[in-house]
Amino acid sequence: RPEEVLPGIANYYASTCTECSLACGILIKTREGRPIKIDGNPDHPVNKGKICTKGQASIHSLYDPERLKEPKFGIDSISWQDADEKIIDALNSAVKDGKEISLFVGKIVSPTTKKVLDDFVKKYPTTKIYSYSLITDRNRRSAWQECYGNNDIPSIKWNEAEIILSLDSDFIGNEGNFVENMRLFSEKREVVNKLDVNRLYVAEGRLSATGMIADYRFRVSPNRQLEFIYGIINELSNAKVISIDSTIKSLLANYSLDEFGNREKINHLLKDLSSNKGKSIIHAGETLPKEVHIAVNYLNEILGNTQLYDWKKLTSQQVEESSTREIEELIAKINNNKVGVVIHFDVNPVYHLPKEFGYKESLKKVGNVISLTEVENETSIVGKFTLPINHMLESWGDAFSRNNVYSTQQPVISPIFNTRQKESILLTWSNGNANSYNEKIYHEYLINNFNEIVYKKKNPLADKKTFWYSVLHDGFVNLEGNSTPAKFNEKSLSNLKESKKTNGFTLHLTESYFVGDGKFANNGWLQETPHPVTKVTWDNYAAIAPKTAKELNVEMNDLIEVNYNSKKINLPVLIQLGMSEKTIHVELGYGRTNAGEVGNDVGFNLIPLMNKDFSF
Ligand code: SF4
Repeated sequence: RPEEVLPGIANYYASTCTECSLACGILIKTREGRPIKIDGNPDHPVNKGKICTKGQASIHSLYDPERLKEPKFGIDSISWQDADEKIIDALNSAVKDGKEISLFVGKIVSPTTKKVLDDFVKKYPTTKIYSYSLITDRNRRSAWQECYGNNDIPSIKWNEAEIILSLDSDFIGNEGNFVENMRLFSEKREVVNKLDVNRLYVAEGRLSATGMIADYRFRVSPNRQLEFIYGIINELSNAKVISIDSTIKSLLANYSLDEFGNREKINHLLKDLSSNKGKSIIHAGETLPKEVHIAVNYLNEILGNTQLYDWKKLTSQQVEESSTREIEELIAKINNNKVGVVIHFDVNPVYHLPKEFGYKESLKKVGNVISLTEVENETSIVGKFTLPINHMLESWGDAFSRNNVYSTQQPVISPIFNTRQKESILLTWSNGNANSYNEKIYHEYLINNFNEIVYKKKNPLADKKTFWYSVLHDGFVNLEGNSTPAKFNEKSLSNLKESKKTNGFTLHLTESYFVGDGKFANNGWLQETPHPVTKVTWDNYAAIAPKTAKELNVEMNDLIEVNYNSKKINLPVLIQLGMSEKTIHVELGYGRTNAGEVGNDVGFNLIPLMNKDFSF
């Protein structure tokens, strides 16, 4: 019996959840060496003890009997040694022949994983890294770049905002750092004694978890959000609350809020925004167009609301997301026989990439397609090598969820199956020698990098080993966040254009609250959790307003055909109060075909309807 294990007495380990890029601090309860429960780490400065359902339910995935148990070559088993040797040969041949090695990754927030990728590129210089995510904050980032000249978006002090206006942003349900947002938002919603209560306005087309708790709600479909924000700016300007830049004065002159419902409610919003300058925040949803984000940034700027931006806490991204053009170029290279190896680093692009790319078909032309994954998926089944990787509770790691907090991840159980840490696999290949693998390869690499990027920066009195163990014990270390506020660039306003009027239906797609982008489809706990708004489990559907249902002459559970971009899909109707008219809201992440016994053929896959830039 290990010294620290007493039968019946639980041990707790601080670590980091890596099920999504928010990298929440977690505490893992273990009994006799088996993890049995995941909770938030109350000391972690970002999530302070809170986590989401996916993080909690990930313990279920650890013990999933459908996890891959050994490496596969086609449908046959292969030893790690043989797989590594064959792959290292293929990588060397690709470099020798001048062919590209395409490495697909998701959102990377780990500085050490980033270093592993960089080392891999150094060893195999024909490598190109591609990063994607299904629901991307590309529009918000690109607007921020135009407005502030960089990609570092500060956190918002939600707990200091008296007035919040959300434009289709489910900021406390499923968007941005919703775990922290919810914590900060509720700090200022002390409704029992009414000592300190913020006011939440939500303008949205669907009914989201955020919209459910709004004090005032406007039904505004996503395609009218630009009109809505223009109307607010123009009316505040007409009322002399703000003075707007001359370049956009004429553009906004014809916009008003008259068409957006109850005038009393609208006046209440305008009054609140004008009497809470510097103490309110307007926030736009990730899927809204760039122009909406620019207009929102501008309005926050001229209302003085940038005081609520925390410039010392910047969200960081270690690998830039690839553009649509880069992915198109990759597929052209594959089709022209210029790619020797494709590596999927814990991602599932065959399911996620919009069908228009023809990615699945193109993979047939690549000799070596390798998937590093925990469970079989739509991508791994079309490849040659399927390499099973550790679950997050079996892994080492680190994360910069933002620039001033470094979090650590430690294994709390030995790998249950014959799996390896995904970074160790790349490191072995970077060494160019299958025999170089050992269980500590990534652990040691991580500590060396920690010494470089954290120890040197902090320069503590403790020696390196003691300091590492103390950070590992806590699960994080605070670093100095020393950014100065960025200055708004008025030239960004030249991107603002007239809002186009459309008469047709609006299709609005968002990630599922529980199965996410489909990654968690095989987790029965998450499929079983009732939707926070509709309470539906085990399915997705087309949510529409009662008036729209009448217009379409459909009833609850009828099947409707959604036809977009000349592509069609049939899905059941859910008549939802609170939806804006002519808006069809559907959650993504369903309709998987190779998720496993639990997740296969649950719901409908709407990704094929998306445009190449993931818009819809
Ligand atoms: S938001 Fe949930 S899934 Fe993402 S890191 Fe936090 S606990 Fe994990």
